[in-house]
Amino acid sequence: MERDYPLEKVRNIGIIAHIDAGKTTTTERVLFYTGVSHKIGEVHDGETTTDWMEQERERGITITSAAVTCFWTPTYADPKDKSKKHRFNIIDTPGHIDFTVEVKRSLRVLDGAVVVFDGVAGVEPQSETNWRYADEAKVPRVCFINKLDRTGASFEHSFATILDRLTKKAVRMQIPIGLEEKHEGVIDLLRMKAYYFEGEMGNKVVEKDLSAEAGIPESLIKDAQKFHSELIEKIVETDEAMMTEYLEGVIPDMDVLKKTLRKAVINNEIFPVFAGSALKNKGVQLVLDAVVDYLPAPTDIPPIPGVNPDTDEPLVRHASDAEPFSALAFKVATDPFVGQIIFFRVYSGSLIAGSYIYNPRTRNKERIGRILRMHANDREEVKQVFAGEIAAAVGLKDTITSDTICDENNPIELNRIVFPEPVIQLRIEPKTKADQEKMGMALNRLAQEDPTFKVTTDQETGETIIAGMGELHLEIIVDRMKREFTVEANVGKPQVAYRETITGNSEAEGKYIKQSGGRGNYGHVKIKVKPMEMLTKEELEDLPKNTKRSLGFEFINSIKGGVIPQEYIAPCEKGFKEGLDRGILAGFKMVNVSVDLWDGSYHEVDSNEMAFKIAASMAIQDACRRANPVILEPMMKVEVITPDKFMGDVTGNLSSKRGLIEGMEDRGMNKVIKAIVPLSEMFGYMTGLRSMTEGRAGFTMEFFRYDIVPNNVAETIIAARK
Ligand code: GDP
Repeated sequence: MERDYPLEKVRNIGIIAHIDAGKTTTTERVLFYTGVSHKIGEVHDGETTTDWMEQERERGITITSAAVTCFWTPTYADPKDKSKKHRFNIIDTPGHIDFTVEVKRSLRVLDGAVVVFDGVAGVEPQSETNWRYADEAKVPRVCFINKLDRTGASFEHSFATILDRLTKKAVRMQIPIGLEEKHEGVIDLLRMKAYYFEGEMGNKVVEKDLSAEAGIPESLIKDAQKFHSELIEKIVETDEAMMTEYLEGVIPDMDVLKKTLRKAVINNEIFPVFAGSALKNKGVQLVLDAVVDYLPAPTDIPPIPGVNPDTDEPLVRHASDAEPFSALAFKVATDPFVGQIIFFRVYSGSLIAGSYIYNPRTRNKERIGRILRMHANDREEVKQVFAGEIAAAVGLKDTITSDTICDENNPIELNRIVFPEPVIQLRIEPKTKADQEKMGMALNRLAQEDPTFKVTTDQETGETIIAGMGELHLEIIVDRMKREFTVEANVGKPQVAYRETITGNSEAEGKYIKQSGGRGNYGHVKIKVKPMEMLTKEELEDLPKNTKRSLGFEFINSIKGGVIPQEYIAPCEKGFKEGLDRGILAGFKMVNVSVDLWDGSYHEVDSNEMAFKIAASMAIQDACRRANPVILEPMMKVEVITPDKFMGDVTGNLSSKRGLIEGMEDRGMNKVIKAIVPLSEMFGYMTGLRSMTEGRAGFTMEFFRYDIVPNNVAETIIAARK
């Protein structure tokens, strides 16, 4: 089978926004104009196409990162010219801060993004966070200043906030014709034409000359001329040869300018800014044209790096159908019609439905069943998917988020997506015996979908504990469990996921020796423990061969001359990890411990894996007890926006919460306070903040790092666990 779209005509994009900026509405319009959805549903009716999960609808927010395929022929091209038709795969990204992990994971598989801003508020704290993530991932972006029909809307103010808070490389591509209720259309500053959107849904794009006859005010034409020159200069500046000519008076023609701009956007040198109102059907089609014109195709991005899973040798794969198959599974979801599906992005080669794939993590082969391409309201079954495409697979049981799937004969493991550890947990208890079984299954399924959601069992009480990234995150999981899996359960209060660590060095010996007639048990280890050092990326790549690191744990194998036979080393490592699961002070998981296994002994007959595992677990508990253990708590980066007059109250209150005020700045009429505050003090903060500020302040928070808790607080925590 041949691919139906040349790779150059594929765009894998995300729409990124601060919550409420209008991402859902914009996505809705995109799906409408691209012809997939023929009915426009407003968010307030709870009728949207991408938010297919019920509670998302109720909350009006988008959580899952489903990918939707649609098609677009630019408005300037002949609609019948098939060669101009492009395939868009739109990867959904949530705006709520509890789900920034989802944003990060989507950024990994998309090639470019449309960032939506609220035309009244401009850049908001979450837009800053998401912008930073996109910077890290070097994702090319176009900006869309939305809601210009709203009272108080200002394109210029919003544009200034982008320049001020996000990037100096933003450039006006358009300016609006009229604002608030007079917002009628936009002026394209490159082509120097006016665009209006006629028809009930604004689906007819009408081009007019920039003239008084066409109803464009003189002052607007003047502005357009000024910004036109500015835009040309910015484009020309990115190309030295063109710059020289330009200084000699040569203005490049439109095609050259567009090509140069495309290159600059792909290289993150320019972020073009567009204007409009999704709700009032203004401007969206021109943003879609911009996706075609300026955002990268899979062939425009660098080859994807990975390693050979057998040798750890670095490898790359190019976006080409001729290379061996490689893909990244980026989302496990439950589809109401076909059950569990795995969204994946193909980086190289192609995959035929019904064939086998290799998973380097599990080192197993799995047969892929059907391959689906997801459209807004339906799914299309496809026989084969090619490099650069995004699709969903049915039938992969052992594949989880962030796994590579590849050709067995040419294995590669693509760089994994790193997820943060959960910071909030709660106890959950099934109501009846029947619920118990269902709950286990439901939670496992949900954990498979979401790598930042963890399920554990309290070893002492046998209770189930679920952990996640924030209160809302766990609330939604519990909601889904009740709704989708009909599990009835009692849910405890959310609590902070504390950790423990050591601050000193120590040594210990662990012996598990039992002789009881016949075959006995014999395990014996000697270890040294110390706090794990933070290393730079280069140092991490240069770790000695006998040292293994995983999240919060380092294992050094210094055994020489087989004093502990090779087959017992892995069981020792397992024993150390298990020993660290229960902290010394209050039973919280211990992290950042480095253990050096340097001596021990074995018995020809009695030694076995279990005996070494138990000896190792006992040794590490003993060593940590004498290595000055401490409790760690998650610290959050908090940003509060408040009117000036409440600033004293807000900062005073944050300080009383053991918060460290890091800075204050003006933002328009408001003040922004940045602080680092322990998560334990932030429960219910929204309510407190509202009553303190007559409901006029807002805040965001995001995990920052784990810090040692002060002694008096540690005592309270320990007492509560007794
Ligand atoms: P999201 O949270 O970013 O997905 O934002 P939504 O698309 O859900 O929009 C939030 C609210 O803003 C909804 O009530 C929308 O109807 C409204 N909205 C979205 N776009 C516009 C717009 O262009 N103009 C106006 N006036 N309201 C808009």
